[in-house]
Amino acid sequence: MRIVAATGNAHKLQEFRSILQGVEILSQSEAGFCGEVEETGATFAENARIKAQAVAQATGLAALADDSGLCVDALGGAPGVYSARYSGGGDRENRALLLKNLQGERNRAAHFACAVALVLPDGKTIGSTGETYGIILNEERGQNGFGYDCLFLSDDLNKTFAEASEEEKNAVSHRGRALLSLKEKLGEWL
Ligand code: IMP
Repeated sequence: MRIVAATGNAHKLQEFRSILQGVEILSQSEAGFCGEVEETGATFAENARIKAQAVAQATGLAALADDSGLCVDALGGAPGVYSARYSGGGDRENRALLLKNLQGERNRAAHFACAVALVLPDGKTIGSTGETYGIILNEERGQNGFGYDCLFLSDDLNKTFAEASEEEKNAVSHRGRALLSLKEKLGEWL
């Protein structure tokens, strides 16, 4: 099966490829798609579907999208679906704002959530979700990954996602779990 990854994020593309081994996954540019899809949904699942639908329609190929984010208990689930746009700046500014908003807060519990959607050329949509739990540290640790990885101490790994290898992170991550569950649903198609 040939799938287009409906994402402009090189880290996500790499994670898709390493988790869905055996499936041919094209980048958006390899599939000839160079547009931006606006995330207008109120939930991770809606946004994943919107992105995958847009790319499937434009390319005529099956498209796989994820929408994901960090949900922090003491912040009422924020930044949630706004994780990428939290500060109005980039990853570094988002992490700085998160630490500022958690200053003096003792409840550091958080989870990453991910919804994936695969839209087939005929419009049929298959979706799955995954979550992974941990706490937010007071300072950054580790060099790998992206986004909030260096602040997220994983309950499963007892290290931050930025200290983990790609294999370690994928085995327990929200995206890894959502993609594995999607893979099970797809069964013999892959
Ligand atoms: P999306 O592209 O709208 O799904 O944005 C997700 C945002 O959530 C990213 O820009 C990151 O800030 C954050 N995020 C999602 N997954 C991860 C992850 O695996 N590690 C670190 N940050 C993540």
